[in-house]
Amino acid sequence: MPPAPRSRRSLLAGLCLALAATMPATAQQAPTATLSTEAEIAAEFASVPCDNSARLDATRALFERMGAPADAIRIDHHDDVDNLVVVKPGTSTETLVIGAHYDKVAKGCGAIDNWTGVVALAHLYRTLRQFAPAKTLVFVAFGREERGLVGSRAMTAAIPDDRVASYCAMVNLDSLGLAAPQVADNMSSKAMVAFAESVAKELQVPFGHARIGGANSDSTPFVKRGIPALTLHGLDSNGLRVLHSPRDQAERVNATSVYLGYRLALAMLARLDQAPCTAQRGD
Ligand SMILES: [Zn+2]
Repeated sequence: MPPAPRSRRSLLAGLCLALAATMPATAQQAPTATLSTEAEIAAEFASVPCDNSARLDATRALFERMGAPADAIRIDHHDDVDNLVVVKPGTSTETLVIGAHYDKVAKGCGAIDNWTGVVALAHLYRTLRQFAPAKTLVFVAFGREERGLVGSRAMTAAIPDDRVASYCAMVNLDSLGLAAPQVADNMSSKAMVAFAESVAKELQVPFGHARIGGANSDSTPFVKRGIPALTLHGLDSNGLRVLHSPRDQAERVNATSVYLGYRLALAMLARLDQAPCTAQRGD
């Protein structure tokens, strides 16, 4: 059972406490936020839904287990895709999007690509729901990424022109689970790449850059819409032989990789929440 919301502490202050392993804490500070542990994240891979048609319901069930009230989980039906959306309202309408696709290709179980991202996304929700963020946090599990970024294209196309500037940043998680977190430079805004690198350094989380040649992910429609965005993955040199193949199975998932992706995204979101909305714009 997740702890009761501590509604008034700022997200950054609370998370700084929670991330105290790399940040000094003092004796007077209030109790820390509950972070998900590597063991809790590892446990999610005992039951990966390998059937594409079961993934949306499984994503909903996962968010409910992470503390999302049933009526806070909505399905955005677009023409040809369903996105699952959970909103944590902030004190402003400035918005941060955190995303991961829930669909998979026909081959394999889609454990790496992309149940890892969905698990990290849901655990980010579990942690961040304990705070009153300044910005509105929109958690999205995208459908039909594998069919051409259908869910993320539909979401970004539906943002009215006069609302685009209020979308401060988007963090996408796709295919963690094999190695340390890396940013896919070819799917990400330059400023966001530099920002991710600086946060990783601060957290002392191993980090790298890797273009994923010929591939794409749900950050790209945001970048194209003028919204700063990035994709984090956790692929090693073997990764492209695992993705979209019968080898993409739960037993291949390295929970440390998923956990580090969760921690890095969490620290990025805490800082983005406190930063001016324009902080990542400009390239
Ligand atoms: Zn993917």
